[in-house]
Amino acid sequence: MNGPTLLQTPSEWSPSSWRTKPITQEVTYNDNAALAKSLAKLQRLPPIVTPKEIWKLRNSLRDVALGRAFLLQGGDCAELFDYCNPDAIESKIKLLLQMSLVLIWGGNKRVVRIARMAGQYAKPRSSPTEVLNGKEIPSFRGDILNGYAPEDRNIEPDRLVSAYFHSAATLNYIRAQISSGIADLHRPLDWDLGHVQDPEVQAKYRRIVESITENLRFMQTVGADTAGQLETVDLFTSHEGLLLEYEAALTRRLRNPINRAPSSSSHNHELLSQTNQQLSRVTTAEDSGWYNTSAHFLWIGDRTRQVDGAHVEYFRGLENPIGIKIGPTMADDELVTLLDIVNPNKEIGKVTLITRYGVNKIGGILGGHIEAVKKSGHVVVWQCDPMHGNTRTTPTPSRLKTRSFASVFSELSSALRIHKEHGSFLGGVHLELTGDAVTECTGGSGGLMDEDLSTRYETFCDPRLNEKQAIELAFLVAGSQRQ
Ligand code: PEP
Ligand code: MN
Repeated sequence: MNGPTLLQTPSEWSPSSWRTKPITQEVTYNDNAALAKSLAKLQRLPPIVTPKEIWKLRNSLRDVALGRAFLLQGGDCAELFDYCNPDAIESKIKLLLQMSLVLIWGGNKRVVRIARMAGQYAKPRSSPTEVLNGKEIPSFRGDILNGYAPEDRNIEPDRLVSAYFHSAATLNYIRAQISSGIADLHRPLDWDLGHVQDPEVQAKYRRIVESITENLRFMQTVGADTAGQLETVDLFTSHEGLLLEYEAALTRRLRNPINRAPSSSSHNHELLSQTNQQLSRVTTAEDSGWYNTSAHFLWIGDRTRQVDGAHVEYFRGLENPIGIKIGPTMADDELVTLLDIVNPNKEIGKVTLITRYGVNKIGGILGGHIEAVKKSGHVVVWQCDPMHGNTRTTPTPSRLKTRSFASVFSELSSALRIHKEHGSFLGGVHLELTGDAVTECTGGSGGLMDEDLSTRYETFCDPRLNEKQAIELAFLVAGSQRQ
């Protein structure tokens, strides 16, 4: 088993082997007895998601990696326990569904939807303290650890258990809404375009909406919906796997589902041998694996992706599909080493590379990353996060973190173009958004300016696209996909 290509043998891994590695963004819990009590409780609680669902997503992401589907992932930067309410959940589901319709129209392929929801409660921070109202206090690290209010900044281990219940309640409502027809496309959709100031742009968007509506009507008329596919959709959940104590407590050895082999047959010769390799793994491997049962998909943040660090060690043992955020400081060879560690069998679509370089840096970096991955033989999902490399702070006195719609779209357009130039393709987008009419990012058809941001600036971490900006981004991406 100890082949020279394997960096570590799988037997060395356990849900707690990360504890022997250096960890970034470490949490110091003052009350160890309370922490132990919370972790013991979490270990007894049932899975929030199941291996069957996890493999459904893994197989779908394989399709994305092969160019047969497109991935849309989005949600809040920091999800709060307070967002576990019907309006906030429904508006986000509806927004993701509506965006995915536009993207299906644009790319002419299936869209795989993953919400940054039902567990996105832990935030990496650049400093352990921050200044709020002129006072230096411990940084807000997400509702899973402490509260935003200055008086709630102590770390409370009880919050780990609370995170589980808020995740479970959120996902329960998502499942209930989807099975009750929130995604039923027989109902007319609300495509309010009243905010679009430029009449030409408005006419352009209106044409897209008419085309989508027309297509839906046609499908209904010809009875293309015999399988009830217009009534329901898949919506998977995800969060950053930052707090390893929590993630490990919800990591379980579970039976693999029967049908975890790739569902669709490959007609690409080059990839066929890899498919066979995967199929033989299915028949010879043990019939159980380690699953993170807190979400379908987890990602490693740009700050915790050190190849010899605790987070990478934890992630390499999971059956779940995983993401890795990669920023401008990632070297080409480091990227390949990382892929070899987390995906030694080079399984197609197991890893999603979430690139977040910034509009001015993408041109100098993405091409090199694409070539290095191609040469390594890994087949990944390339997803663009055009948000995190484009954050700026407005001048004093407002000093609000914001992002301009133009830079977000520009990084996305560059990603589409650079992939094409390198014989690759963009597999998906990763966005911070909310279904509410907040004013956190500037620009878009509503023409939001720096001065407008304070009207409804509600984020507790990074600025999100509001509902209209998010739909507009989908229109623009769809437009470029059709070109
Ligand atoms: C995030 O997605 O909110 C985040 C912290 O991203 P990154 O790891 O890319 O900085
Ligand atoms: Mn963020």
